[in-house]
Amino acid sequence: MSKSTLSRSSIISSKDKINDLVKLAGWVANKRDHGKVTFIDLRDETGLIQCVGINNKLKDLTIESVVEVFGKINKRPESLINQELETGEIELFVEDYQILNKSSELPISIEDDGLNINEESRLQYRYLDLRRSRLQKNLRLKSKLINAFRKELLDQDFVEIETPMLTKSTKEGARDFIVPSRLQTGKFYALPQSPQQYKQLLMAAGFEKYFQLARCIRDEDLRADRGFEFTQLDLEMSFVDQPTIMNFLTNLVIKVCQELGVKIKDENFPIFDYQEALTKFGADKFDLRSPEDKKEGVLAFAWVINFPFFKKVDKNDRAEASDSKSAWTFTHNPFSSPIPEHIAAHLEGNQTEKIIASQYDLVCNGFEVAGGSLRAHQAEVLRATFRTMGYSDEQIEENVGHMLKAFSLGTPPHGGIAFGIDRLLMLMAGEDNLRETMAFPMTAGGRTSVMDAPSAVSDEQLAELKLSVASNKKSS
Ligand code: ASP
Repeated sequence: MSKSTLSRSSIISSKDKINDLVKLAGWVANKRDHGKVTFIDLRDETGLIQCVGINNKLKDLTIESVVEVFGKINKRPESLINQELETGEIELFVEDYQILNKSSELPISIEDDGLNINEESRLQYRYLDLRRSRLQKNLRLKSKLINAFRKELLDQDFVEIETPMLTKSTKEGARDFIVPSRLQTGKFYALPQSPQQYKQLLMAAGFEKYFQLARCIRDEDLRADRGFEFTQLDLEMSFVDQPTIMNFLTNLVIKVCQELGVKIKDENFPIFDYQEALTKFGADKFDLRSPEDKKEGVLAFAWVINFPFFKKVDKNDRAEASDSKSAWTFTHNPFSSPIPEHIAAHLEGNQTEKIIASQYDLVCNGFEVAGGSLRAHQAEVLRATFRTMGYSDEQIEENVGHMLKAFSLGTPPHGGIAFGIDRLLMLMAGEDNLRETMAFPMTAGGRTSVMDAPSAVSDEQLAELKLSVASNKKSS
């Protein structure tokens, strides 16, 4: 077969092609020039192979250039076998090669795990950073995780449905990111903190089992386990009670972990009362792993239930202070229902501190990896929640009138949950930072990877939106 008729094959498949002519393409991972002979390690997404060039072949290649090589796969002599390499028993003897893209010297090293390089540089050159094997593994595992969830849910007759990104505020306890409207100047959309209200409206629409891989956008203080943007596996089911849905979710998590070969400490996820968790662990997120479990990368899941529905507003928290108009705000989700035995008291609105929400949080290795609840599906229950938070009838109508309307037009009882996919992956991959699980995360200071945002917009854009910026001081 000649060079021009041969199509590109993967590096890993070369193992079965001894004495064959092949065409490979990839990146020059490294180069060893021994005068008469030049060796490179060629890398594609399937692996690495040693290529041998004589008569000045390969000499002009620079590290991380993209090349196509053509030649014969030879078995290496016994003494030159490289046990560390999957293709260590073979090498490619180069007959011809072509540089597809020449690389200049790299601004960051991509050879090790990269954890010693400062974050700004790693994110500025994220496309290089992502070439390192640790991040390649993390993102491939994320794809598997998402697909395992998707497969399980589709098998169980869930319907995957998208909901809007430009919408009205849904309260999840953070500030909204807002987007000015050009057509209705002076008005704003909010980017969704979660699809909470839309998924409930899908229950009203008769989709009894919904899920979505939803991007959620929350303006909150950034931490290692939190970014402005994250991905939730968001789901909702009609006609469920709390034990049924918790049981369903436990089985879902077990199946997904099995699919990915992740070990679970105890498949009977222990269930703790919120108060019990506080007494026992001093927090509602805790780590049940033994030192041995930690070494083995085991995941230890537990449920926490019986959370108080309301808490006193923290005046220093701007989002809390603006969500609530009284001394009280919700602990998790204003759309939750109180547990059935507390509904009467909730409607009366006089024992606020005692009301327990039908909230269930899934904890894993010290982190909250999912949170959900049974929802209010009767208008008066949702109205009572907002009344407790100090909203007048008019303010209730303005904020959630559309939900109250839906709840008067045949909305079934329902409940759901959302898993923090990035966080779950962080634990599965044994990473300490959420950013290690995302392709293009923001810096700890909220700047985007590679591209320079947030950035100023032109005067024309501002004029079109009828906006003016009060201060021109640039934040860095
Ligand atoms: N919407 C909730 C959240 O984002 C999750 C849920 O209750 O389904 O935390």
